[in-house]
Amino acid sequence: MSLRGKTALVTGGGRGIGRAIAEHLAAAGARVVLTGRTLGEIEEVAGKIGGLAIRADLAERAGVEGLLAALPGHAERIDMLVNNAGLADSAPLARTTNTMWDTALALNVTAAFELCRALVPPMVAAGWGRVVNVASNAGISGYSYTSAYCASKHALVGLTRALAAELARTPVTVNAVCPGWVDTRMSDEATRRIADTTKRSTEEARAALERMSPQRRLLAPAEVAHVVLMLCADEARGVHGQAIPIDGGQVMA
Ligand code: NAP
Repeated sequence: MSLRGKTALVTGGGRGIGRAIAEHLAAAGARVVLTGRTLGEIEEVAGKIGGLAIRADLAERAGVEGLLAALPGHAERIDMLVNNAGLADSAPLARTTNTMWDTALALNVTAAFELCRALVPPMVAAGWGRVVNVASNAGISGYSYTSAYCASKHALVGLTRALAAELARTPVTVNAVCPGWVDTRMSDEATRRIADTTKRSTEEARAALERMSPQRRLLAPAEVAHVVLMLCADEARGVHGQAIPIDGGQVMA
């Protein structure tokens, strides 16, 4: 499969799942633009894959606008948009603050909406495009202590389905991938939070995350990246409007 001649924008491409996606797309020949707040991380990945790093805080509207303005040549077409940047705070309902709620919604879904609004019409005009939203199995099922995260990821899946309906007669496909626990900084932070709140060791807390999957393991970022790459193929044209679980069978949609 070749993505030569195509350009991808991968948000949160500096580490974890986004980094693996950027590396997979670049290995298939795509030019990759990466964003994140940590310049050192996105520059390191961009250097490794010959991509372009643009620093942006996507939880802020000005950050999204700045990113769009900084895309090379402003008008250059993005063929593949991977909305991957995300955060996963957790707290019981009564301790979920408005700031936690607003930030989760702003980064996990509003930024994706704004990037789609700006970048999908040029894909339609150009005759080819792929949008892949990195949601979560918390976008198709509910989990305790994650009201803001679950709501934001369900909203991202809803955005995916609405755009898929709207764009079905265009050459652009829109899908979501819905990972279970993946071995990244996000799951490391969750492990620490669980250990702190339950007074268990980090090993026990990590084992609790592993037990959530019927396969009794955390996924590797490359397993998610592989599915994203597959969705970018010409031959994946018929896969549209799906929220694809990648979670060892945890959610059977
Ligand atoms: P991660 O290692 O923490 O990476 C998150 C990425 O998002 C980083 O590149 C981070 O870069 C970027 N990001 C965070 N806040 C940002 C902001 N305000 N503006 C711009 N970029 C921001 O986590 P990950 O596991 O790879 O997560 C990637 C995606 O997968 C997320 O959407 C997450 O919800 C989803 N997911 C993860 C898991 C899991 O178990 N790990 C499971 C299901 C879904 P900076 O910090 O430098 O900004």
